[in-house]
Amino acid sequence: MDIGDGTLAVGAGRPPAEKYAPALPGPVFAAHFHLPGEPVGPYTYGRDANPTWTLLEAAIGELEGGAEVVTFASGMAAIAAVVLSQVKAGDVVVMPTDCYNVTRALKDRLESYGAEVRMAPTADDAQLGVLDGARLVWLETPSNPNLDVCDIARIADAAHAGGALVAVDNTLSTPLGQRPLDLGADFSVASDTKAMSGHGDLLLGHVATRDAGLAESVRLWRKTVGAIPGPMEAWLAHRSLATLHLRLDRQAANALALATALKDRPEVSGLRYPGLPDDPSHELASRQMRRFGCVVSFTLPDEAFAERFLGALRFAAQATSFGSVHSSAERRGRWGGDAVEPGFVRFSVGVEDAGDLVPDVLRALDEAAKNR
Ligand code: PLP
Repeated sequence: MDIGDGTLAVGAGRPPAEKYAPALPGPVFAAHFHLPGEPVGPYTYGRDANPTWTLLEAAIGELEGGAEVVTFASGMAAIAAVVLSQVKAGDVVVMPTDCYNVTRALKDRLESYGAEVRMAPTADDAQLGVLDGARLVWLETPSNPNLDVCDIARIADAAHAGGALVAVDNTLSTPLGQRPLDLGADFSVASDTKAMSGHGDLLLGHVATRDAGLAESVRLWRKTVGAIPGPMEAWLAHRSLATLHLRLDRQAANALALATALKDRPEVSGLRYPGLPDDPSHELASRQMRRFGCVVSFTLPDEAFAERFLGALRFAAQATSFGSVHSSAERRGRWGGDAVEPGFVRFSVGVEDAGDLVPDVLRALDEAAKNR
């Protein structure tokens, strides 16, 4: 039976009701489990499996539209698990030139292990041009922080025709915004630090796949490197999933309101939000996404202007990361590593009232312009 996203999110991964048992059992803190006799699962040693992960992994699997899920200590742990468990010396890996910069940093590591890494932009499905002989194709759509979008189904078809695996970093969308596995990807990967858990208070990541063999190889990688989630983080994330649909809907509505208000501001250039009807990605995003996310990016005249703007914001904290219920913004260029202008701002829109947030942003722009 098809159910709505709210019903799905609220019930995801909850065990069947049992008299006197809580609806969501609390976190299980255990390094090891009682284990007389033959050392067989489900729970033997705390690095291999934990009942709190089991429930969270079942929940995310449901949100992904049916998948085996392996959770990790962070998004990067999940990304590295897919890349490093699937690629060996001599393999070709295709990556976006504009994906999250720490993912891109895997290029040097892969090359040091004897793999070849080819890079092409997300926009215009440019990765199609460098797929020849690839073993793994990495996509990130929408890309962070420039918000370009590529056609997952189109690239997955071409990659599969050449025998490659396809992984999508789905952090910006979450599975309620876009389901890469339904679009043909072999792996849907995310930093659940962001919108999935949504409160800016924990780090977590996951890998989802419908291929049991791939799931097993990723699970074995987790056991081998020990990049496991803490039970408390796993439980908090599971608890937070119950409001995922509410948060995403509110954040996307606020993000659209903000982007719309920024459109006519003379100080703002390069405004991007896939939900804006005239965004270059909107047509494709509308075909493969069900929600457009909470990140709006734009460029202010220069670094000093952007810093004044950020300092004048009342309802958005100056912080990196995105996806939290609390709005935040940063000048992305302060980190280096991304091809952005010094005045480029990545704005993560929270669940505050648009009636407070949008005027506050416009006022901060006025103040930044005044002190020029
Ligand atoms: N993927 C994307 C798109 C990100 O923006 C980030 C972090 O900002 C990550 C992955 C890494 O996630 P984590 O910080 O949980 O390791």
